[in-house]
Amino acid sequence: MWDLFDLTAQRARLSPDRVALVDLTTSDSLTYAGLDDRAARAAGLLAALGIEPGDRVAVLCRNRPAFFVLLFACAKLGCILVPLNWRMPAAELIGVMADCQPRLLFHGAEDGATAATLPGDVPCLNLDDGFDARVGAHRPLSARDVWPADDVWYLLYTSGTTGEPKAVLYTYGMAMANYVNLRQGVDLAESDRTLNYLPLFHTAGINLHTLPLLMAGGEVLVRPGFDADAVLDLIADGRITTFFGVPAVYRQLAMHPRFATTDLGGVRRWACGGAPLEDALARRFVDRGAYVCNGMGMTETGPTLFLNDPAGAEAKVGSIGKPQILCRVRVVDAQGRDVPPGQVGELWVKGAAVTPGYWRQPAATAAAFSDDGWLRTGDLVRQDDDGFYYPAGRLKEMFISGGENVYPVEVENALLRHPGVVEVAVVAVPDAVWGEVGQAHVRVQPGTDVESLARHCRALLAGYKVPRHFVLVDDFPRTAAGKIQKHRLRAPLPQGLDLAS
Ligand code: ATP
Ligand code: MG
Repeated sequence: MWDLFDLTAQRARLSPDRVALVDLTTSDSLTYAGLDDRAARAAGLLAALGIEPGDRVAVLCRNRPAFFVLLFACAKLGCILVPLNWRMPAAELIGVMADCQPRLLFHGAEDGATAATLPGDVPCLNLDDGFDARVGAHRPLSARDVWPADDVWYLLYTSGTTGEPKAVLYTYGMAMANYVNLRQGVDLAESDRTLNYLPLFHTAGINLHTLPLLMAGGEVLVRPGFDADAVLDLIADGRITTFFGVPAVYRQLAMHPRFATTDLGGVRRWACGGAPLEDALARRFVDRGAYVCNGMGMTETGPTLFLNDPAGAEAKVGSIGKPQILCRVRVVDAQGRDVPPGQVGELWVKGAAVTPGYWRQPAATAAAFSDDGWLRTGDLVRQDDDGFYYPAGRLKEMFISGGENVYPVEVENALLRHPGVVEVAVVAVPDAVWGEVGQAHVRVQPGTDVESLARHCRALLAGYKVPRHFVLVDDFPRTAAGKIQKHRLRAPLPQGLDLAS
């Protein structure tokens, strides 16, 4: 892997006057020359505050251009940015701070109250109180113009879908490799404009597609969170050409009363990932000529691993496409042997966008990799005969009922074909006879009853796959990214209909 040169300085030489970031709250914008200057001055501020290379600088804020100024300032100085999850209560944030041990904390006014409750030994700076003036008062610091590929640039905590979040090391080389993967997959160009709105403490908030587009010289519109109404307006006005959303975002767009009448034509690429995308939802967009390309990746992989293309989105609904240019993948059985197309196995990956490991967790890092350096993702996938891949849930979620493997995703997809089902999560629960059986937690349209769900499953699935328990729910326990936390659904046994009794 080659080293990077100072990205904002390089970009400022190539396209100084092009717009890099637009703050949709204030309508202020920053050109590439402006971004380079702000980042260099912010690096000056950090140095003046005693920050040294390798130190961690935490930031607790909603999406705003200043976040990216800080991200590049850290690179210019060689320190490590740690975005914090503003959805976490202070008690959890204290644990995260103890893990990453920042020397400084930046926060937005909206998170000032939370910041005030954090341990007092870390100085706090309010981004909404004189930050711009303080940055402006510093001379640009031209510290490092080579950003070594293996050096750590920022830390990102995993979503915590399956347990405690872990801090993933993001190197400069990973950022470059994700750029190559995504630029190829999404066909990013200088003329593109994307929306930055997903939480910055998740990989999508930084890396899909913001950081790659800032490398490509495009324009990033920044808004402090998602709002279906506002996003549909931006789309209708032709302000976005390439869009990334998680399934929950696409769901909200599709459910909006104006969805059917909004002109979607300004967006030439739609990408989705981070959680299972139900076929029916993808089809609602495809029917409108918006080919939502499903992709799969994880915090540990930069994140881009797989991405479908528009033709694949139409012909292979449900697929995550093929591995991108800098990824190698294997699908293996429990003994680490490759399985043939058609068979479900665990996904193992290698590539320049894969993290070297978790922050100060050598045991977790060692456990995540095979002896010959493959990252064991813990995800199940299947390849078809044309080389397209399909997600099949997580290894931990697969269960064995009466000696047969059950993949909850297959059961969920069957249930989603029932017209009354809005959202569903299937988990395993212990069973005296079968060892384990499925328990379906289902969010339904009014008037849908459990017996019709069970009948529907029996018509589509082998008996051992049909959930024995159905629980109707109003909502699910979720991560900040909106992912369903299945481990919080498992025990205790439900109050709902028990078909076994
Ligand atoms: P944790 O590792 O803390 O349990 P997490 O795995 O949810 O949380 P992320 O790194 O944000 O944290 O998410 C990556 C995971 O999301 C993948 O490993 C995969 O299980 C799931 N995922 C990503 N994209 C898709 C997709 N298109 N379809 C289905 N699942 C997906
Ligand atoms: Mg994970």
